[in-house]
Amino acid sequence: MWAEIAEEIAACRLCPRLVAHREAVAAKPPPRFAGWAYWAKGVPGFGDPQARLWIVGLAPAAHGANRTGRMFTGDSSGDWLYRALYETGWANQPQSTHRGDGLTLRGVYISAVVRCAPPANRPLPSEIAACRRFLEAEWALLRPSVQVIVPLGQIAYVAVARLLGVKAPRFGHGISWTAQGVRVLASYHPSQQNTRTGRLHWEQWIAVFRQARVWIGP
Ligand code: SF4
Repeated sequence: MWAEIAEEIAACRLCPRLVAHREAVAAKPPPRFAGWAYWAKGVPGFGDPQARLWIVGLAPAAHGANRTGRMFTGDSSGDWLYRALYETGWANQPQSTHRGDGLTLRGVYISAVVRCAPPANRPLPSEIAACRRFLEAEWALLRPSVQVIVPLGQIAYVAVARLLGVKAPRFGHGISWTAQGVRVLASYHPSQQNTRTGRLHWEQWIAVFRQARVWIGP
């Protein structure tokens, strides 16, 4: 079932604007990625199918997951995410540079609201709606084991609330609530827009994963 979902995501071409963007980006990489064979397809989720912690991001970065083919791999958001997961015991290493780099996750699964890189990191409502099928399919499989969901940013927060069938309180970093027996703990997205401007500091960020660890246990 997981393999089928991953194959469907990788083969999906439902959003013409995103398909064009993911492929255009791959055709003209910046000098630092010259020679890379970009993934340039929908990016499947990554992690432990028995996850107790589910992280829901926004979308692949054009030169991050759209290049490497793995969630949060090869960009600065991923540097923050995997370092935090390593420091709180969910990952076996703090780096995530490419598929086949030895990274494994234990007890955590990582998905995104939209699976193809959007221009300016802004998916359209119609694209979010089209891609919801994959989030729902993953949630159906993860539902028995997941105890805590961490949505990264407001769009993921709204998507998670919808999945759980609730009208969520206003989004904010560190906001938490429970629905269907699952705790939701919201976080700002670790994008450069947030980390470089000081909107999200490392201590605020790591606190989210420390809290999830306390709730879930070792
Ligand atoms: S964003 Fe989702 S629905 Fe749209 S083309 Fe990519 S995988 Fe398909």
